[in-house]
Amino acid sequence: MRGHFFHFEADADLRPVTRASLRRVVSIFRPYRRRVVGVGLLILVTSGLGVINPLLIKVAFDDALFVPGGPRMALLYVVVALMVAVPVISGLLGIWQTYLSNIVGQRVMQDLRNSLYAHLQRMQLRFFTSTRTGEIQSRLSNDVGGVQSVVTDTASGVLSSLVIVISTVVAMLLLSWQLTLLSLGTLPFFFWLTQRVGRARREVAAVTQRSMADLSAITEETLSVSGILLSKAFGRQRHETERFRRENERLAGLQIRQQMIGRSFFATIQIFFSITPALVYLVAGFVLQGGGGGLTAGDIVAFTTLQSRLFFPIGQMLQVSVEVQSAMALFERIFEYLDMPHEITDGPGARRVDPAGVRGEVRLRDVWFRYDRPPEEVDGRAPVSPAEDGDDGRQRRLWTLEGVDLEVAPGQLAALVGPSGAGKTTVTYLIPRFYDVQRGSVEIDGIDVRDIALESLGEIIGMVTQETYLFHSSVRENLLYGNPDATDEQLEAAARAAFIHDRIMELPEGYDTVVGERGYKMSGGEKQRLAIARVVLKDPRILILDEATSSLDSTSERLVQEALQPLMEGRTTIAIAHRLSTILAADVIFVMDRGRIVEQGSHEELLEHGGLYAHLYLQQFKGGTIEAETADGVVLSSGRVVPRPNA
Ligand code: ATP
Repeated sequence: MRGHFFHFEADADLRPVTRASLRRVVSIFRPYRRRVVGVGLLILVTSGLGVINPLLIKVAFDDALFVPGGPRMALLYVVVALMVAVPVISGLLGIWQTYLSNIVGQRVMQDLRNSLYAHLQRMQLRFFTSTRTGEIQSRLSNDVGGVQSVVTDTASGVLSSLVIVISTVVAMLLLSWQLTLLSLGTLPFFFWLTQRVGRARREVAAVTQRSMADLSAITEETLSVSGILLSKAFGRQRHETERFRRENERLAGLQIRQQMIGRSFFATIQIFFSITPALVYLVAGFVLQGGGGGLTAGDIVAFTTLQSRLFFPIGQMLQVSVEVQSAMALFERIFEYLDMPHEITDGPGARRVDPAGVRGEVRLRDVWFRYDRPPEEVDGRAPVSPAEDGDDGRQRRLWTLEGVDLEVAPGQLAALVGPSGAGKTTVTYLIPRFYDVQRGSVEIDGIDVRDIALESLGEIIGMVTQETYLFHSSVRENLLYGNPDATDEQLEAAARAAFIHDRIMELPEGYDTVVGERGYKMSGGEKQRLAIARVVLKDPRILILDEATSSLDSTSERLVQEALQPLMEGRTTIAIAHRLSTILAADVIFVMDRGRIVEQGSHEELLEHGGLYAHLYLQQFKGGTIEAETADGVVLSSGRVVPRPNA
């Protein structure tokens, strides 16, 4: 990067640039080719203009100042005027060039960010559950953000260095070929020095990195609770301290070496800069002694000025390959994300379904599902085995859902109950296609969800999740997320239906109060009611409700409950039920355990059955229809005794 040509990558994990990725990078810039050409031309001109002033020095010395009969002022005026004008023009053109290259850089970044964001929005949930958030943000901000400096520093730097070197060498040749030879003759030494120091620094940097990693590993291992327990228990503190001291000493030594290599390199360069003019004078002396070759004082001054222009761009060009490779690595990291396939997409036969015409029948047919593999990686025809032998010889459960069959008629309320980890949430994720099944099918009105265009699937289904997520914006905007076209009247009606309107009116700015992450703090129950209002506005045919397990106080609980009832009316609802009232209101209850539906029926039927449901019911809600409880179980109002499963 410009101004940092003495900077060496410590741990350059750089691969050779491939033609294909180079072509792809070029294609990103294609829409801005006119500006790119403009930038190139401006660099050419401004870098080239740099040799004019040194050449004017010669004219000033030889033709204007030191001429027999005194200075020729007329010429001097012209030369001085030019010497003022050239840097001014060059400076202005430089500003224009910076403007253009920033536009190109920013536009390209804007394009990349947009396509990356759009691509990520369509990625499957699986991707987000298995990627660190920081990683995604880093690609979007840091990697894409680096593109600007590739344009303004790397690409522009390479071109301008090239132009400066060529134009300067040509100008030097025009002045004196002998001096040019001398000057170029010193370059191999300069190359050699840069390469050597570069290598040495890279090596030391790598060793230093490793030493730092070792040191922190030692710290982590030995200063953790278990580590310190171990060393105390075995009386090894002295040994550990000694080990740390040794590694620490090594690190300090390495860092001093690293600094010294850098400093001595700078010192050499500085000496080099300072003594080359002296060498030029010496050689000029020899040239003059041998007949002069037309060498003038102006030539010599102009020459030393030109020569000083050479070192920086040459140093930069020596770094070109490293810079280009890091720039390409940057682009490749971006491309890698852009090329990630979308797992959940509209199939060729997918069609739009009019939400108004949907009856709302939901059916899962022999659904097998596992989180660890995308659907295409499991051969649909192969017989499924529920478990496989783990490394320890024990059977490992492979499937999160194993042959789940479930049918909910239009308008019904179905409750999913079961112990934690049974797969209830997973079932609800399959209906809106957050994941696709590996075997079997999920159907709405008899149509496989994979044959329904994703966009209309999103319109058919509404969700109220456990954790209510509110954006950092006004209540109004949060509600409108459910239906951006809703009128103020509809908005208010929805809020009233969810028993939240009165509360909203009490807020400092009513519907315009900013809520969400850092906004006005809503209570748990209020947030849930806002979420309910949001879904009321959306008015989906199928509602998926994950009841919050977090306890609300009884008033809040009652309000949420009252808000939910009208919401569930007239649509198919699948509820992961934690509240007794929901379970009791359900038309059908599906009891899940370890990825299977183990019981299904009405509350009374299931209690009579005396299986897992009765057990769970006993554990969670000791009330309702239970008449009496004994040590062996409970006596129901029907007179039947339900034994405790573990009794
Ligand atoms: P709870 O009532 O505790 O929320 P649940 O019945 O809703 O439980 P699920 O969330 O469907 O259970 O989880 C079923 C199983 O799948 C669990 O064993 C869980 O660890 C596993 N699981 C859930 N999400 C993932 C995921 N993203 N990746 C891998 N495994 C997962």
